[in-house]
Amino acid sequence: MRKPLVAGNWKMNGMRASLIELAGMARAYPAALRAKVDLVVCPPVTLLFPAVASALGSGIAIGAQDCHAKTSGAHTGDLSAAMLFDAGANAVIVGHSERRADHAETDADVKAKAAAVIAEGMTAIVCVGETRAEREAGKALAVVSAQVRASLPEGAKASNVVIAYEPVWAIGTGLTPTIQDIAEMHADIRATLGREIGKDQAAQMRILYGGSVKPQNAKEILDLADVDGALVGGASLKAVDFMAIAEAAG
Ligand code: PEP
Repeated sequence: MRKPLVAGNWKMNGMRASLIELAGMARAYPAALRAKVDLVVCPPVTLLFPAVASALGSGIAIGAQDCHAKTSGAHTGDLSAAMLFDAGANAVIVGHSERRADHAETDADVKAKAAAVIAEGMTAIVCVGETRAEREAGKALAVVSAQVRASLPEGAKASNVVIAYEPVWAIGTGLTPTIQDIAEMHADIRATLGREIGKDQAAQMRILYGGSVKPQNAKEILDLADVDGALVGGASLKAVDFMAIAEAAG
């Protein structure tokens, strides 16, 4: 019922020459795989426009990694959701833990950004996840549930919001939670969504896992009932790795 989504987050990586990887992804995304798995690649904003051109006709959507909550105005260096949409994006990651940590973004900020994204008709990929200390203290489920409740924008539904569960301690570290912990968290997020947006929408909303997903561990994670795809950082920089994960989702 839920078509898996594999999203690539290039973070602050990538020059124009890196678009060769996007071209490689496009070549390795035939109609048969397109029918089974959605793909979105979120390059740095400098590459947004050429990435859209390079992915044209491939079925790969192009997204951004952050946006400002306002539509326009005196916010030097910032980019609005409307600008990203104008450049060809159709999804925006909001609330990535690196943004929450580096830019002190709160759940309220994330909610406002997500609202801006869906107001432009794009998909908001809303990131949540606990720290290592929170998991060790047995608070992971409570922390993530609170983040989901406070970060979801008004009007969130399965067609405009995707949740990405990314344990902070698993991002870029090579560490992952146990399969049981991932399964428990995703089921709990879906239960939280059910209380927030109703059971029908919650049943349809995609919940991605993110944090050190690689071709080697993708299948085991993606086979879980409530895991509807992956948000992939490091392994999304190389077409061969990203497409192996896409295949594992199919
Ligand atoms: C991410 O940046 O969202 C991420 C999951 O990174 P990595 O796959 O490198 O852990």
